[in-house]
Amino acid sequence: MRNIYLAAGTHPAHLSCMATLIDSTARQHRHPEKRNRPDTPILRKPDWIRVKAPTSRGYAETREIVKSKGLVTVCEEAGCPNIGECWEQKHATMMIMGEICTRACSFCNVSTGKPSPLDLDEPRRVGDAVAEMGLAHVVITSVDRDDLEDGGAMHFVRTIEAIRSAAPKTTIEILTPDFLRKDGWEAKVIDARPDVFNHNLETVPRLYLSIRPGARYFHSLRLLERVKERDPSQFTKSGLMVGLGETKEEVMQVMDDMRSAGIDFLTIGQYLQPTRKHAAIDRYVSPEEFASYEEIARSKGFLMVSASPLTRSSYHAGDDFEQLRRAREASLAAAS
Ligand code: SF4
Repeated sequence: MRNIYLAAGTHPAHLSCMATLIDSTARQHRHPEKRNRPDTPILRKPDWIRVKAPTSRGYAETREIVKSKGLVTVCEEAGCPNIGECWEQKHATMMIMGEICTRACSFCNVSTGKPSPLDLDEPRRVGDAVAEMGLAHVVITSVDRDDLEDGGAMHFVRTIEAIRSAAPKTTIEILTPDFLRKDGWEAKVIDARPDVFNHNLETVPRLYLSIRPGARYFHSLRLLERVKERDPSQFTKSGLMVGLGETKEEVMQVMDDMRSAGIDFLTIGQYLQPTRKHAAIDRYVSPEEFASYEEIARSKGFLMVSASPLTRSSYHAGDDFEQLRRAREASLAAAS
């Protein structure tokens, strides 16, 4: 008999997760590097984490468009808890450059391995899907592609251009890899002028070695600072998972680091464990603690903050973008 877990997942650049039934045998094939790790205990989920099963007509229509265009979504790959709600409203986050990642973060549910060559027609299909879905705002993310000389920077550029051409009114948010050791290529992505440039720091620096071993905290922070230096009109956004063993003081230090780098928008959500081979959940952070994080972050000067157990980078991204725009206008008006 195969084991079935109530599980949740994340993507390297993505806070994620949901009440999805995940077959543990299938999941282990996705993560060969984690196969020999000891099983971690599973904490019982509190009531505030539960979500509805995805059954609506809107969900089915979104699924049909995604399948017919041969697209990959992080909503599915990460087993996101919000898929029922988001897809009902035609909010899907496209994951470009394949479904196999070159990193092996211990929190992430996306498969690790050797990726396939880039699909050069993918940007066009993403643009067509965005137009067909009539999206006001789209979020595009990707796997890490350390195997490519540019880390996939030009594929991001081509995708942004294809969306602009097929759906000129749609605002574009990108959630990128860190472009570590791809010196200079991130500038091409910045110059393609997405409306929001998002890159998640994911956790506090002390936990990087165990949670995000292939990444460097200050490199990720610097990437977002570079965006602001090169194009101050672009909104920058970053996110943290909590419940991994971080302290409140460490989270507040990360908030300060983010503000020093000029980051506009902070998301904070609960880490959920994809399988027993992934990093263990240290604890479930209560809704009251999330509210307190939100209040602290707002007092530190972020234009926008979203902090709740089910907050994910792309959750309500369209509505949040409108609020972000209004918050900037209000702040400029107050300064003049
Ligand atoms: S929160 Fe993001 S990843 Fe999750 S279902 Fe919504 S759009 Fe997809």
